[in-house]
Amino acid sequence: MFFIIKKRSISIFFTGILFIGLSAGAYNLALHPAMKDWVEEKVVINKIDTDRKIVALTFDDGPELKNTAVLLDILKKHNAKATFFLMGAKAEKYPMLVKRIAAEGHEIGNHSYSHPDFNKKNKEAIINEITKTDEIIYKLTGQKPYLFRPPGGYLSYALVDYTKQNNLTIAYWTYQQDSKDWRTGVKASRIASHIVKHIQPGQIIILHDGCPNGLETAKAMDILIPKLRSEGYEFVTMSELIKSGNK
Ligand SMILES: [Zn+2]
Repeated sequence: MFFIIKKRSISIFFTGILFIGLSAGAYNLALHPAMKDWVEEKVVINKIDTDRKIVALTFDDGPELKNTAVLLDILKKHNAKATFFLMGAKAEKYPMLVKRIAAEGHEIGNHSYSHPDFNKKNKEAIINEITKTDEIIYKLTGQKPYLFRPPGGYLSYALVDYTKQNNLTIAYWTYQQDSKDWRTGVKASRIASHIVKHIQPGQIIILHDGCPNGLETAKAMDILIPKLRSEGYEFVTMSELIKSGNK
């Protein structure tokens, strides 16, 4: 009897763990207990309140040699502006792509130098990751990023303190608009249909040109942009989106 009860409570325990895991996956905006307060304070931006059909396409983890070049060609073909959250280490590797992103009118945000989880880093390491990347972007484009996107979405008090003091905005994304495009094997058509299905004014759409599946992400834009335009949507950079939000 004792054994049976124990076995049962173990299985309840594991069901609980599984449920917590699934909840964290589905509601990753709650990764940090203070997330709700930071969103209310507008320290962290994950969407904009607006009735206008405007959204921001955002691309992470690049630049990557082929994927980013193909993506830029597609954005140019459709005359759509986007925001690129670049990693400092890759920006150093592909400086011409960084220059091209800026020259073609897209916004550049900071996505750290080496993509560590910031919840496991001390303040000094966080500052170093951000400032090193800011300097690389500034040297290549003459622009200092105003947006920072935390790698993996991990937030910490040290990061929030630093961004508040340095006039940086933490650029999150709208959780319904995470198509998991970075997963190897996810096709362009599926990425596009996920986004079209969940579209709402003021959303920040997260995508990844810097991952191995990034060519499918780029191709998805060739389907997505004309489709959303036919529904009346416009594509703006994330800073423009933030500026046009209702106060
Ligand atoms: Zn990333």
